[in-house]
Amino acid sequence: MSELKIAIQKSGRLSENSLRLLEECGIKFSNGTSVLKTRAANFPVEILFLRDDDIPQYVEQQVADIGILGENMVLEKNKEVAILEQLGFAQCRLSLAIRKEENYRGPEYFNNKRVATSYPRLLSGFFKKNNIKAEIEEISGSVEIAPGIGLADAVCDIVSSGSTLMTNGLREVTTILRSEAVIIGNKKLSEEKKEILDRLLFRIRAVKGARENKYILLNAPESSIQEICRILPGMKSPTILPLAEKGWCSLHSVVKEDEFWERIAQLKSAGAEGILVIPIEKMIK
Ligand code: ATP
Ligand code: MG
Repeated sequence: MSELKIAIQKSGRLSENSLRLLEECGIKFSNGTSVLKTRAANFPVEILFLRDDDIPQYVEQQVADIGILGENMVLEKNKEVAILEQLGFAQCRLSLAIRKEENYRGPEYFNNKRVATSYPRLLSGFFKKNNIKAEIEEISGSVEIAPGIGLADAVCDIVSSGSTLMTNGLREVTTILRSEAVIIGNKKLSEEKKEILDRLLFRIRAVKGARENKYILLNAPESSIQEICRILPGMKSPTILPLAEKGWCSLHSVVKEDEFWERIAQLKSAGAEGILVIPIEKMIK
């Protein structure tokens, strides 16, 4: 019986969310993450705990069959792997930042500058595209301190809130790439492994769907129902049940997490009352 080998980050910004995703897919592990690998008790997968930098190569060589990591790292390593699914967590961007007191008018700024980064491939691609001749200083961590210690004039690094840059007296000027966690896969999986992967992706999509949506219940006068259905199209169409009070109904539907506040305002002005919003555990379309 074959197993699907899944590589995830051993410890770092992706670890907790990667494990949680697998757990929400109903996959149970016996060991903690202090080991190198562990088997699931109830699904044919084995989890390997690795540094994120190594995952693309291991998936290419089929040491692991699939892996969970940032798209930034996948594109930087440029290995022969397929991106199978976006996962919606670890959202960040790869940006160029300069000393905050410097003037910036455009990418030409970087001509003849030294730029420190852990992403030499993506950065040199950006410079080539913009016709810029700059020196790239490759370092593996704490890139943001490079200008302060005189190693470089600027940095190209992963940013989410920008607070690390600010603490180091730097200012973000251009974004090269936006990224989030993805699943990558080896391109030559056996039929048996593909079948396990399909089962896993089905579950992952159900978890993602649930995270991106909320269940909504509300009461409204019958005369408002048409307008409310227009605001809340739901999965197919909303469920409408009569209330004990004549002329009123209860309406159940699904609303996208990111549209939620905007829709609530519209619903209230359309006459909705007693609005309840409930998290969804799993959503299968
Ligand atoms: P490893 O020891 O495994 O090599 P690392 O130190 O290189 O770990 P982390 O800092 O844990 O890596 O980041 C892993 C990934 O998480 C990054 O490649 C990126 O996709 C994402 N990431 C990094 N920083 C942030 C952030 N501030 N917010 C959101 N996502 C981030
Ligand atoms: Mg790393």
